[in-house]
Amino acid sequence: MAVYQVVTMPHEILRNKALPIKSINSGTLRLLDNMRDTLYAFDGVGRAAPQIGVSKRIIVIDIGDNLIELINPEIISREGEQTGSEGCLSVPEVVGLVTRNNLVTVKGLNREGQEVVYEAEKLLARVFQHEIDHLDGILFIDRASETNTESPHRRNKS
Ligand code: ZN
Repeated sequence: MAVYQVVTMPHEILRNKALPIKSINSGTLRLLDNMRDTLYAFDGVGRAAPQIGVSKRIIVIDIGDNLIELINPEIISREGEQTGSEGCLSVPEVVGLVTRNNLVTVKGLNREGQEVVYEAEKLLARVFQHEIDHLDGILFIDRASETNTESPHRRNKS
């Protein structure tokens, strides 16, 4: 078990475009394990590799029902709109109102290298979009219509 410190603003890795995984090897699997451990060690529903200091295209998500691990995730369709509050461990003590798609279809690879497709709506769709944004150097504050400072004990950070 390895829990990493979460990288926070203004660390430049958060603004870089992360690199795709070309082949899944033991290092990739270790990274997935570390991201999972870091997800469960802090409040949160999702994490992207740049948040633990690794500029690679991997995300992990758990909104409370099961763990999703996705390598090279890509949004292949989007529909509808939702507006809701978001926070991010990499942007401490800020919450913002962000409009995103309500339904997304996301494809990527699982840890076995098989292609998997998720159809997500509502919160899960929001978290997918938030995490995949991290891989492109985009933070929720870039998309927020308004931001506020918040108490440090809020849950649902990604
Ligand atoms: Zn985040």
